[in-house]
Amino acid sequence: MKILIINGGSSSFKYQLIEMDTESVLAKGLAERIGLEQGKITHEYWKNGEKYKVSKEMHFDNHEVAFKEMAAYLTDNEVGVIKSINEVKYIGHRGVHGGKYTTPKRVTPEVMEELRKGIPLAPLHNPANIIGIEAAMKTFPKETENFVVFDTAFHQTMPERAYRYAIPNHYYTEDRIRVYGFHGISHKYVDARTRRHFNNPHMKNITLHLGNGASMAAVNEEGHCIDTSMGFGPGDGLIMGTRAGNIDSTVIFFLGEKGLSTQEISKILNSESGMKGLIGSPDARDLETLVNQNDPKGNLCLDMYAYRVKKFIGAYMIALGGVDSLIFTAGIGENSAMIRKAVCEGLETFGIKIDPDKNKQLNHPSDIVEIQASDSKVKIVIVATNEELQIARDVLSLV
Ligand code: ADP
Repeated sequence: MKILIINGGSSSFKYQLIEMDTESVLAKGLAERIGLEQGKITHEYWKNGEKYKVSKEMHFDNHEVAFKEMAAYLTDNEVGVIKSINEVKYIGHRGVHGGKYTTPKRVTPEVMEELRKGIPLAPLHNPANIIGIEAAMKTFPKETENFVVFDTAFHQTMPERAYRYAIPNHYYTEDRIRVYGFHGISHKYVDARTRRHFNNPHMKNITLHLGNGASMAAVNEEGHCIDTSMGFGPGDGLIMGTRAGNIDSTVIFFLGEKGLSTQEISKILNSESGMKGLIGSPDARDLETLVNQNDPKGNLCLDMYAYRVKKFIGAYMIALGGVDSLIFTAGIGENSAMIRKAVCEGLETFGIKIDPDKNKQLNHPSDIVEIQASDSKVKIVIVATNEELQIARDVLSLV
C-alpha cells in the first residue's frame, strides 16, 4: 500500500510517496514559490537502489497547478514510480495546529470547519493546510482519502496544570488560550523509536527536537507527553535559530511603549532573535565556527543555548520523577556534537554522562545511536527524526 505525505506551506509544499509494506520512500520532492513569478519543482526518486533527481522551473498559479506537476512526475514513464495516480489510495497531510484534536483525522467537512475555526490560532499554518488539502482533493480521484495528522496532537495528553496559563479563566474557555505545543509528530516518532530500541515500553524520556525551531517534551512511562516547552504559539521555551524563546512579557510592553507596533515586536522576537540576535546568524554551524575561534559572542551564545536546555531537562526530570533517556533529534540535535556536549556537561551528578568519542562519531550507521558513557545512569541517544513516516504510520492506523 502506498501513502502520499504532504507537508504544505503557504507558497510551497514537500511530498513523499511511501511504500508501507517496506516503509521505504519511493519518491519525494519539493514545489516552491507557488503563486510567485518563477516557481520550481524538484523531484527525487529511487530505482534499483540508486537515487536520481530532476527539477523544472515554471510558474505555478496556485497549489493545484503544482499538485498536478507533482502527480505528473510521480506517474511519468521515465522518472515516475507509479503507473497511475489511482495507486495513491491515501494521502496524509501534516497539520500544524489541530486545536482540540488529539488524534489524526480523516478529512471530512467537519474537520475542514475545525481547521477554519483554528485560523486565528495558527494564522500562517492553517490556511496553508486548508489550501493543500483542497488542492489534493481536486488533483486526486474522489476515491482517494485524505487524512490530517497534527503537530499539536501528541501534546494533548498534558495535564491541565501544565497546559493552562494563569490568566483570567475566560481567555481559556472563550479564546482557547492555552499551551498547545508543537513538533509533536517528531517528539512522538523519536520517543517511540527509542522505546523500541531499548525494548522497553515503560521508559521516562525527555525528547529534544533541536532544529531551526526547537522544543522539548517530557514523555512518561505510558508514552504520554506531560509537558512541552513551546506554548500557545511556537515562541516559548528554548533559544532557537531566530526566536528568543522564554521572555518576560514586560519586555513586550516596554518595546510597545517605545513606539514599536505589535508586528514589529513580533518580527524582532520571531525573526531577529535567538542565535541570529546573539551572533548574527541563525545557523548552528556558524555558531560552531565562532566557538572554535574562541569568539566571545559565540561562547556566550553556546552557553546561553545549553543553559536554557538544561533548565528544561531539570524541570522535566522533576515532572517525570526521573528520566531514563535523553533523546536528541532534528538538524542540531542530530548533527551538532558541540551543542550535545554543552547540554550534557555538568549533569553528571544527575546520572547524565555523555561519551565524548561516541558523541563526535560522524556518519552514524543507524537511525539511532547511543552516546552515553558506560557508567551513565541515563541513556543518551541521537535519533534521526522521520516526520513523514510517522504521519504515514498514523494514517495506516486509521485505514
Ligand atoms: P527546521 O526546523 O527548519 O526543520 P532542521 O531540523 O532542519 O530545521 O534544523 C536546521 C538547523 O540544523 C540549521 O539551521 C543548523 O543550525 C543545524 N544544522 C544542520 N546541519 C548541521 C551540522 N552539520 N552541524 C551543526 N548544525 C547543523
